[in-house]
Amino acid sequence: MVKSPEEEHPQKAFGWAARDPSGTLSPFHFSRRENGDEDVTVKILYCGVCHSDLHSVKNEWGITRYPIVPGHEIVGIVIQLGNNVKKFKMGDRVGVGVLVGSCKTCETCQQDLENYCPSMIFTYNSTSQDGTRTYGGYSDIVVVDQRYVLRIPDNMPLDAGAPLLCAGITVYSPMKYYGMTEPGKHLGVAGLGGLGHVAVKLGKAFGLKVTVISTSPNKEDEAINKLGADCFLVSTNPEKVQAALGTMDYIIDTVSAIHSLGPLLAMLKLNGKLITVGLPDKPLELPIFPLVMGRKLIGGSDIGGIKETQEMLDFCAKHNITADIELIQMDYINTAMKRLSKSDVKYRFVIDVANSLSQ
Ligand code: NAP
Ligand code: ZN
Repeated sequence: MVKSPEEEHPQKAFGWAARDPSGTLSPFHFSRRENGDEDVTVKILYCGVCHSDLHSVKNEWGITRYPIVPGHEIVGIVIQLGNNVKKFKMGDRVGVGVLVGSCKTCETCQQDLENYCPSMIFTYNSTSQDGTRTYGGYSDIVVVDQRYVLRIPDNMPLDAGAPLLCAGITVYSPMKYYGMTEPGKHLGVAGLGGLGHVAVKLGKAFGLKVTVISTSPNKEDEAINKLGADCFLVSTNPEKVQAALGTMDYIIDTVSAIHSLGPLLAMLKLNGKLITVGLPDKPLELPIFPLVMGRKLIGGSDIGGIKETQEMLDFCAKHNITADIELIQMDYINTAMKRLSKSDVKYRFVIDVANSLSQ
């Protein structure tokens, strides 16, 4: 007999779930597996609200199974340890990102690229090794294999650090892999949301000139004066776009919706690189001529491996990089999702889980 989410495991858990493609979240009782020998149980303190959570609760990618508890920018403290856990001790400040499992043996896992393992287990909306569903961080506790748990550096605030676990690594990893870190080079950041604003900060930490390519004129002042961007251009302003043609070495495209790649390719110099990390629900059109004529490259990237995620957290701690957040209560989440769908957040909602998750 199939057990209900509340009865399938011994540990009681509570969170907020969406039950259908309306995406509306509401209280949800479920359960977590017993803490195994390799496991760490984390009391969740904060959880970031990624646009992937929004795509998922609304089933925009067509892969959602309800009920779904989203949340993969999780920080908290260790409250239980398995017998074989050496990496952590009770009370440690830890993080859990987008993945909570992989096969550990394939070529990609052996290269610390668990994020590309064919058997990767996502933090939510995925199937665990024991066949039960995974539920994310809009909840009170989570049980995770130590291999997929990150250390949060001592000087990093937990609330503003949470978004780094997805937004941070998703822009850090391609910047490193595609060689977008050469000081003095010019980086364009398309879309100034959760991912984009961290990309601006990382770009500056790498010594790049950073231009924000945005659809929101009201973000200009902060982009320059608070986030440290060098330039800001509104992508619907033809003069601004014209002036930027052929000026950028790299662009990281974080846009969450269908958009045109033509203007972005045109802003790149010869040999420029356009790296897309945004995940719109429909295919984008690829203009071939500007790509071919300028020997340009388009690439993609999916979060990052656990080792690189720790490297990113340590890098951010060293450079005092965290997300700019709006800290919200759990019962604000449906309003927050509506605002996120309108690009109305500066620049990441983070849920104050421990203080606001009421039954
Ligand atoms: P977000 O906070 O909503 O930011 C996306 C930004 O894109 C918006 O703030 C807006 O910036 C811009 N935008 C939105 N609609 C647009 C449109 N129609 N045309 C042009 N620009 C538009 O989202 P996020 O959390 O940063 O995530 C961004 C995307 O990355 C999502 O699709 C998400 O699923 C995906 N993602 C991918 C990975 C990965 O591993 N590859 C990881 C995490 C997230 P402006 O206001 O500046 O225009
Ligand atoms: Zn995410």
